[in-house]
Amino acid sequence: LFESVELAPRDPILGLNEQYNADARTGKVNLGVGVYYDDQGRLPLLESVSKAETARIEAHAARGYLPMEGIAGYNKGAQTLLFGADSPIISSGRALTAQALGGTGALKIGADFLKALLPNAKVVISNPSWENHRALFERAGFPVETYAYYDAATHGLDFPGMLASLRALPAQTIVILHACCHNPTGVDPTFEQWQEIVQIVKENKLVPFLDIAYQGFGDGLEEDASVVRLFAQQDLTMLVSSSFSKSFSLYGERVGALTLVTSSKDESVRVLSQLKRIIRTNYSNPPTHGGTVVSTVLNTPELYTLWTTELAGMRERIRTMRVQLVEKLKAHGVTQNFDFVLDQRGMFSYSGLTSQQVDRLRDEHAIYAVSSGRICVAALNSRNIDYVAKAIASVLTA
Ligand code: PMP
Repeated sequence: LFESVELAPRDPILGLNEQYNADARTGKVNLGVGVYYDDQGRLPLLESVSKAETARIEAHAARGYLPMEGIAGYNKGAQTLLFGADSPIISSGRALTAQALGGTGALKIGADFLKALLPNAKVVISNPSWENHRALFERAGFPVETYAYYDAATHGLDFPGMLASLRALPAQTIVILHACCHNPTGVDPTFEQWQEIVQIVKENKLVPFLDIAYQGFGDGLEEDASVVRLFAQQDLTMLVSSSFSKSFSLYGERVGALTLVTSSKDESVRVLSQLKRIIRTNYSNPPTHGGTVVSTVLNTPELYTLWTTELAGMRERIRTMRVQLVEKLKAHGVTQNFDFVLDQRGMFSYSGLTSQQVDRLRDEHAIYAVSSGRICVAALNSRNIDYVAKAIASVLTA
């Protein structure tokens, strides 16, 4: 049966982690990861999360099946983060949410739902995008193409190119947009640019699928939701995948949500019934632990306040690392302008390093980055930043 099965290629980023783990050199640094580390280089356990977990364990509650769409308080919390507590989108019943297995699970339920609804549509993703976008939508049966996005010459957005790509798309093309903190580049459109983007989406009758995996890591929880709110205000129907993996530092708990904005409450009821069928035939219902913890934090005012403070701490630490990286590169004699790193948002930065320079960082300095030059700024800390800046300077100048 399995004789003809070929070996699948290794996941480029997870393969990098394996290489890093096998490296025996002391002082090695992994900038290839997609997770937030604290200044001690550890994956943080947030105090807000820890308190919610303690309460859950002390309650000694039995663990029955959750409803297919998950915990009501969790879904409500996810909607509030996206649209704001007083949003008419929520009060009118136009939003429906299903707890999902991380942001990835949310994208997958959304992709399966769209495939049944629009079997002949194509999907477009930014060039470049998170690697799994293409793979996930292709596996769901869609042809996947790209729209212009990153401009290597300016280390910024190719806005005219992006608009031209979007304008050329036929109606009902599904457009995957990073609502904030673009992965892998760190380059986001400005709010004014988003206003133009949303007009094209509307005029061309495109189907927006907003992916928000880093809410709170850009400029703040509210600020980072502004693109989702802008789209929602345009009376567009749309899909939004949320991930809480990073914002709660709960990667392995698979905490995410899929939210759809429909035209009416009645439509929401019908759409949710179809989503539940997809969930039922995939994994039946989501797991309890992570969802309960997130729901408790989102719905307990004291824990919510604590969480927002902790999230701000993570955001500010990344910002500090961006500032220090730019300063230290200068101090180590780099003459190229790296100020673009300060404009980028979220955990990642397209550093502009070539794949040869990335290889040299690994071979000569035990510093691991993605061959595209993507570095995880959230893996820098006060102990490794000087070493990293010096190493980057040496591969840039020699
Ligand atoms: N979308 C983007 C843009 C991401 O960067 C990620 C995580 N790296 C995800 C979705 C998936 O998130 P999760 O780990 O919660 O599945």
